[in-house]
Amino acid sequence: MSAPRPDPRVFEAARRLREQRPSVLIAVAHPDDAELFFGAAMLRWRERGARIFLVVATSGGKFGEGGRSGAAVARLREAEQRQAAALAGAAGVFFLGLPDGEVSRSSRRLEERLVFYARKLRPRVLCSFDPGPYSEAPGTLWIKHPDHRAVGEAALFAASFSGLASYFPAHSRRGLTAWPVREVLLADSVRPNFSVDARPFLEGKRKLLAVYRSQELSGLRLPARERFLRLVRPGAR
Ligand SMILES: [Zn+2]
Repeated sequence: MSAPRPDPRVFEAARRLREQRPSVLIAVAHPDDAELFFGAAMLRWRERGARIFLVVATSGGKFGEGGRSGAAVARLREAEQRQAAALAGAAGVFFLGLPDGEVSRSSRRLEERLVFYARKLRPRVLCSFDPGPYSEAPGTLWIKHPDHRAVGEAALFAASFSGLASYFPAHSRRGLTAWPVREVLLADSVRPNFSVDARPFLEGKRKLLAVYRSQELSGLRLPARERFLRLVRPGAR
């Protein structure tokens, strides 16, 4: 007796369901940025069944301490990032291996990589940093990490042009087609217009941060809301 042939419509329905599942791409500069700035949002998205991907521009080799070499620190921080991402339920982490503290020198490479991952992973939402020069802490402004600014700038480039095949046409030879992200969420903005209630996820966010033993983040006061500048493509549903 031969096995019944599966109805191709079943596969088509499954494919459509997969495509409808929201996905989020978080582009950051260093291991721990995603959990620090988007930790509660990630846990909330995961609860709603979203697929979450991380692109991490550097492996954080400048944060050397205890006499370790930059390469050893980078290996340790990559391992911490992979562990935290797994705990957050992320579907994948991609490291770009750019030099820590010098991301702005690789801006074209970064733009190409973020357009590439937007086309490959096809996220509805692209998350990164507001590329503005300042960070706001309660009651004061300070200089934003230049790597965060550079990644935020490249993320805006990717959000602008990943949907246009004429940018980086070599991607099409690798089977990738243009993909316009619908929405951008920028962390560390001095003019946020959107927030996620972090209170139900504070314990979970603390656990994500506790993975970073090299960084001593456990004593941080975590905000009750994660605030973002939210940009929505005109006409996007
Ligand atoms: Zn950082």
